[in-house]
Amino acid sequence: MNQPYFRAMRRSRQQLTQDRALEILQEATSGVLALLGDYDYPYAVPLSYVYSEGKLYFHSAMAGHKIDAISKCDKASFCVIDKDDVHPEKYTTFFRSVIAFGKIHIIEDEQEKLETARKLGKRYNPNDDESLQKELDSGLSRMHMLRFDIEHLTGKEAIELVK
Ligand SMILES: Cc1cc2nc3c(=O)[nH]c(=O)nc-3n(C[C@H](O)[C@H](O)[C@H](O)COP(=O)(O)OP(=O)(O)OC[C@H]3O[C@@H](n4cnc5c(N)ncnc54)[C@H](O)[C@@H]3O)c2cc1C
Repeated sequence: MNQPYFRAMRRSRQQLTQDRALEILQEATSGVLALLGDYDYPYAVPLSYVYSEGKLYFHSAMAGHKIDAISKCDKASFCVIDKDDVHPEKYTTFFRSVIAFGKIHIIEDEQEKLETARKLGKRYNPNDDESLQKELDSGLSRMHMLRFDIEHLTGKEAIELVK
């Protein structure tokens, strides 16, 4: 998953294992997707997602800043904050977070789009296939599904949390 041109973490003691970083991606329900937005201003937009087999999946309206940015540049990163416990007496926070870099695309294949929408739907409501199907029947044609292929993944935690 990791490519040589992605930089190494300076404080490597604080780096999480790949397994732990993946666990966080699997557990969290939202993060912030960073794209190259209008006039090359970075556009960091919060989104719900589901992780599956090295990929992140999102749903989106068919138009807007996010879709325009993805159409212009497929390079992206996605950040999830797992923990942010502020310790006022230490002027710090005990944090844990994950950042993924990769490429993001609108899913064009209808079958892949449907499977992705099902995955995302089940992530939020795993026990009601009937209502999910109704939702997809009425809404899927009016939304895009997005696939983010992860190329590089790092996790980091505050030194205070390092065992
Ligand atoms: C926890 C969370 C989960 C979400 N999950 C999803 C999801 O799964 N799918 C989805 O499509 N959307 C989700 N949203 C909403 C998402 O953040 C965007 O508002 C939405 O996707 C529209 O993006 P856009 O670029 O098309 O909006 P546009 O209306 O085209 O954006 C135009 C401008 O509006 C402003 N803007 C847009 N969104 C926000 C925002 N969230 N906060 C502040 N300013 C904003 C920015 O300045 C942006 O440049 C979620 C938001 C949150 C907070």
